[in-house]
Amino acid sequence: MIIVGDPAHATSPASGQGASMAIEDAVTLAKCLRDADSVPAAFTAYESLHRARVERVVAQGKRNGDGKTLGPVMRHVLPLILKLRKPNPDAMDWMYGHRITWD
Ligand SMILES: Cc1cc2nc3c(=O)[nH]c(=O)nc-3n(C[C@H](O)[C@H](O)[C@H](O)COP(=O)(O)OP(=O)(O)OC[C@H]3O[C@@H](n4cnc5c(N)ncnc54)[C@H](O)[C@@H]3O)c2cc1C
Repeated sequence: MIIVGDPAHATSPASGQGASMAIEDAVTLAKCLRDADSVPAAFTAYESLHRARVERVVAQGKRNGDGKTLGPVMRHVLPLILKLRKPNPDAMDWMYGHRITWD
């Protein structure tokens, strides 16, 4: 048996990635089932392909959520920091630019 989606890795709503990850799970698992010699081998391949990415997304979601509970000082300082920093549009490419290659 294998689980996908929220039962495997419920993310903070602040990550905005839970449904995306559930779909990624399904596509990655389908690909592993297509390519492996057996179901157990497919499950092992699925976990080794996908676990590190899922854990990174879940951790990022937690950071996003934690950032929404700032103390009274940071509540005033953070907007200034955000105004001064140079935006890097590629910084979150690892999350939003993810592609699953399917031959
Ligand atoms: C407030 C909030 C905001 C979110 N915003 C985003 C977002 O912007 N982007 C994003 O990607 N994700 C977002 N998510 C997360 C996303 O909704 C979930 O990660 C995603 O729906 C998980 O999909 P799933 O298929 O694993 O589970 P679910 O969508 O929960 O599907 C499980 C299904 O199983 C059914 N079910 C349960 N028990 C049984 C049973 N015994 N028999 C038959 N059926 C059963 C349920 O009714 C449900 O339809 C948000 C979540 C929340 C709470």
